[in-house]
Amino acid sequence: MPFKSLRIIEPILKAISEEGYTIPTPIQSRAIPIVLQGTDLLGSAQTGTGKTAAFAIPILQLLSTHKLPHQKKVIRSLIVTPTRELAIQIGESFNAYGRHTGLTSTVIFGGVGQQPQTNALQRGVDILIATPGRLLDLMAQKFISLKDIQIFVLDEADRMLDMGFIHDVKKILHALPQKRQSLFFSATMPPEIVKLSATILHNPAKVSITPESPTVEIINQHILFVDKGNKNALLMHLLKDQTIKTALVFTRTKHGADKVVRMLQKNHVKAEAIHGNKAQNARQRALANFKAQTTRVLVATDIAARGIDVDDMEFVINYEIPNIPETYVHRIGRTGRAGAKGTAYSFCDAEEKAYLRDIEKLIGKKIPILENHPYPLMHHNPVKAAPQQQRQHGPYAQRRYSHSGLKTPGSGSGEEKQWQGNSRRRSR
Ligand code: AMP
Repeated sequence: MPFKSLRIIEPILKAISEEGYTIPTPIQSRAIPIVLQGTDLLGSAQTGTGKTAAFAIPILQLLSTHKLPHQKKVIRSLIVTPTRELAIQIGESFNAYGRHTGLTSTVIFGGVGQQPQTNALQRGVDILIATPGRLLDLMAQKFISLKDIQIFVLDEADRMLDMGFIHDVKKILHALPQKRQSLFFSATMPPEIVKLSATILHNPAKVSITPESPTVEIINQHILFVDKGNKNALLMHLLKDQTIKTALVFTRTKHGADKVVRMLQKNHVKAEAIHGNKAQNARQRALANFKAQTTRVLVATDIAARGIDVDDMEFVINYEIPNIPETYVHRIGRTGRAGAKGTAYSFCDAEEKAYLRDIEKLIGKKIPILENHPYPLMHHNPVKAAPQQQRQHGPYAQRRYSHSGLKTPGSGSGEEKQWQGNSRRRSR
């Protein structure tokens, strides 16, 4: 089904086509008609599913077809999102899809001077994309009024709560007009999120795109058991493969990220770190270098990487296994986006096996083990893999040989189906 059949207006269709999109993603084809008819929406979807366009396109259309007679623009749509990176990317999406509509948007976030942001606000914008802290700050300084908001979006609500923004969100909600359309997105729907959504939404339509589908199920996932002390050597070994043009490496701590970067630089691999201790412009620069492939390896912590959206990024390497299983899904969801190829390698030492078990429980699947690498776990040998664990499957099974230079066992496709089934069950 093409975008046209979603009754999208010509200026937006043109912009979408310039972006190279031809077919709406599942969340887009389901959410766009709902939003266009003015209904509230409860969307269960993570980044990588095309979620941003699922709300940006209909918002642009609604605002553009109901232009106000005001001389000066007023903020008619507010998107609140937890991180600066996400805010910037959402801003870029509004600019891209709205470029032929005449609508304007701006992005505000903390950690940088406020002057350019207040200048943009004073020129007048239709759409505001904000992180909670800076939004409240500029509201307190009377640079922002929310009284004309018609459409409100709360993005990544679960992450918002994880990051301790609940009170900020409540304050923002108080400042919004009662009569408005609200869209609420969250990757997961634990009870406190459902409760929060009920305070925001009115008779919402529900759209659920499971986190593992369609993004994660197409990612080739591998576990590499390795002693902690050999992780650097194993990383260097993987990077010998020049078909890995860029890779996003995750560490648990900022300190760990810096250490990996120093090790890579010492070994002549162009690498940069992106984490909360870096100034915003340093993070943006690192991301730009990575996108341009002048930096081959970007080493990130989870919060900083939230929302990193690099088209065609194929490789994610978990230098450490995350202790929160959902984080694993978020991390590997940085690759394999919008139908592109994706490969995730996870280094697991003896102490991390418990985290691995939690992850496999969450995703309802055993992650295939890559055994024939030069640095196998020597201390506390892993439990011998069951035959099913060793199986490789799916269209990329062959590709693994060429990318990693590592030997993998045979192939089959049963597991993939099982995973899909399990993840669906879980999400209900
Ligand atoms: P998101 O989930 O909003 O972070 O989007 C993930 C990626 O998919 C972004 O790089 C978008 O540019 C891209 N994307 C979104 N919608 C489509 C589409 N219909 N066709 C192709 N790519 C898309």
